[in-house]
Amino acid sequence: MTPERVHSVSRAAMERARRVLPGGVDSPVRAYRAVGGDPVVLASGAGARVRDVDGNEYIDYVGSFGPLILGHAHPAVVEAVRSAAGRGTSFGAPTEAEAELAERVIAAVPSIEMVRFVNSGTEATMTAIRLARAITGRDLILKFDGGYHGHADGLLAAAGSGVATLGLPDSPGVPAAFAAQTLVVPYNDLEAVRAAFERHPGAIACIIVEPVAGNMGLVAPQPGFLEGLRALCDASGALLLFDEVITGFRVARGGAQARYSVRPDLTALGKIIGGGLPVGAYGGPRALMERMAPAGDVYQAGTLSGNPLAMAAGIATLDALAADEDAYHRLDELGARLQAGLEAAAASAGVPLAVGRVGSVLTPFFRPSPPVNYSEARESDTARFARFHRGMLERGILLPPSQFECWFVSLAHDEALIDETIEAAAAALLEREP
Ligand SMILES: *Cc1c(COP(=O)(O)O)cnc(C)c1O
Repeated sequence: MTPERVHSVSRAAMERARRVLPGGVDSPVRAYRAVGGDPVVLASGAGARVRDVDGNEYIDYVGSFGPLILGHAHPAVVEAVRSAAGRGTSFGAPTEAEAELAERVIAAVPSIEMVRFVNSGTEATMTAIRLARAITGRDLILKFDGGYHGHADGLLAAAGSGVATLGLPDSPGVPAAFAAQTLVVPYNDLEAVRAAFERHPGAIACIIVEPVAGNMGLVAPQPGFLEGLRALCDASGALLLFDEVITGFRVARGGAQARYSVRPDLTALGKIIGGGLPVGAYGGPRALMERMAPAGDVYQAGTLSGNPLAMAAGIATLDALAADEDAYHRLDELGARLQAGLEAAAASAGVPLAVGRVGSVLTPFFRPSPPVNYSEARESDTARFARFHRGMLERGILLPPSQFECWFVSLAHDEALIDETIEAAAAALLEREP
């Protein structure tokens, strides 16, 4: 038996927070609505572990929902941020760090020759779409059911992630006229994309796609899907926009476009390139990016864009990744070990469970086979997931609090931590309905 963990300080902290923050949080999934109970309120993290305000420790698979590929409080990142902060936190003037991070992104990501830094993934996708519309002179965009690209109006149509978790098909406050500019088709369904182009000839500015879907849980692209999108865009004059906010520097140094050898026109980045500080970016070939003001006529600005602390954390993170030749191989192996262990534990517990995984990003779905699209993902037993989540929390494993989020393995995880996680899962999966 595992001893009951005490969460009284967390509970009190959430009660206090709920009086002053809607739902007690600043981002909906954190509130644990999908799994029930109160979230644990965190005090600190180091490497692969986090500690809550009651002093409980956990092996962490949330990893800030993606950015922390080096783990928590990596010494090089902490030192870089400390040092940058000592020189001033923001200037409203150019700093050298912006070009330094840009050069690292450009060197790694095949399709990017120029990049613009913003403060979040939301800003990155929103602006990349503005650019795609300006370049093509078209208004419609095409996205995939369950694809999440941040919370901009028009991208909250059939979005996954927290929106999926809350079961909201859309959000009030998004004008119908904006949502009407967004076409939505199933992921991994090239025929549906082809049909959309036929119904709207010459009218679609871009396809925005997570090249590996990460916000309906982890759903891998089927062979030929990304190549097919590239071909359909080329045939119709639409741009292909890869939302690599999760996959950039995650599924390979050069992101999914490097892993699958498909070149998008525009790329949105975030998460890892900010090393845990607020950053987003979008980039592409020079000829397209020079449409952005002040080089060109498409407007986008930001008081804190290219912030020195965020640039420093990003540079330190990308440098640590670049210095570690074996990093992506090790991440892949750790991910595979976790997948195999979870599948074996589920099989011996007689629980239908299938893991979607690409490298170090994975989602165990409570269903018999890995889903290929959002409607299949939604067939998962989310009540069973909620029970599993609570069982794991009590055993010292912190998981993303939704069936429709990814687990992130970091370079701070090792075989022993993975095995400890599998052992906890084996016990949690054996728990029957209360
Ligand atoms: C997290 C995420 C975003 C939004 O990034 P924020 O920094 O949260 O605004 C966009 N696209 C994808 C694929 C994401 O996972």
